[in-house]
Amino acid sequence: MYAFDYHRATTVEQARDRLRSQPGARVLAGGQSLVASMKLRLADPAELIDLAAIPALTGIQVGDRTVTIGAMTRHAEVAASADVQRALPSLAALAGGIADRMVRNMGTMGGSVANNDPAADYPSAVLALNATVITDRRRIAADDFFLGMFQTALEADELITSIQFKVPRRGAYIKYRHPASRYAIVGVYVADFGDSIRVAVTGAGPVVFRVADMERALSTKLSADSVAGIRIPSDGLNADIHAGAEYRADMVSVMAARAVETMLSEPLSW
Ligand SMILES: Cc1cc2nc3c(=O)[nH]c(=O)nc-3n(C[C@H](O)[C@H](O)[C@H](O)COP(=O)(O)OP(=O)(O)OC[C@H]3O[C@@H](n4cnc5c(N)ncnc54)[C@H](O)[C@@H]3O)c2cc1C
Repeated sequence: MYAFDYHRATTVEQARDRLRSQPGARVLAGGQSLVASMKLRLADPAELIDLAAIPALTGIQVGDRTVTIGAMTRHAEVAASADVQRALPSLAALAGGIADRMVRNMGTMGGSVANNDPAADYPSAVLALNATVITDRRRIAADDFFLGMFQTALEADELITSIQFKVPRRGAYIKYRHPASRYAIVGVYVADFGDSIRVAVTGAGPVVFRVADMERALSTKLSADSVAGIRIPSDGLNADIHAGAEYRADMVSVMAARAVETMLSEPLSW
């Protein structure tokens, strides 16, 4: 690890001003990705601006068919929240399936979404639940947020303050997980909004994506059979020691069918 300075901000404005005035500074959330990459000398920020003491970045609010979660809310808090379990049970279940207890107690929703790891779970929820990423200066629609592997629409000095999810009538997230890290080798989130269905896939490609063919098929007939036979092209999908591109393409169909089956077993929330 290279040497760095440490600054603890207590307001969003303080963090943003510090980020602008200190060249090479990065914000620190749970540190579960950033500190690991610093240890490997893949990142060498001149300064870490810790967001943990900013009260405005935490908290969960349930509104009229929305759930808004502060950027510094830890995965364990989302999983254990009675409000999220009631209003958006598929999101609480997703959070409870991230990594292990230690990572869930440290990792944050804002950190995960800003990091945009191709195998992370939350990006699929943001996309399937048609969420809005709220920053210190604007609101970014989910469809415009995830640009590529570890790339987002965020400016270099822009901070996620919260994420507002739309509440579907029902939804489900199913992943084929890596047995050690629990990152998604392939994960599929399906959400039924009554007049539309959204299907988001993580882990399979360089960045989370929607599957229009599956969304169309589910809009015609809402059943697991509708997606089980749809196979996405393997071109451009991830291939590594865990799974090849062809295998990942097959797993998208399998996980999508399981997600629809699980979703249909859930009670309607509205
Ligand atoms: C062993 C292990 C297993 C894991 N398994 C999984 C898994 O199964 N599923 C999964 O989804 N994830 C998994 N993760 C990732 C983990 O869930 C963290 O969410 C993730 O590492 C990033 O969140 P963080 O809060 O730790 O962010 P940090 O590491 O602190 O920051 C990550 C990046 O985001 C930036 N950032 C942080 N907060 C903000 C903000 N509010 N606004 C703008 N930029 C910001 C930072 O500057 C940095 O560039 C795993 C991690 C580990 C170490």
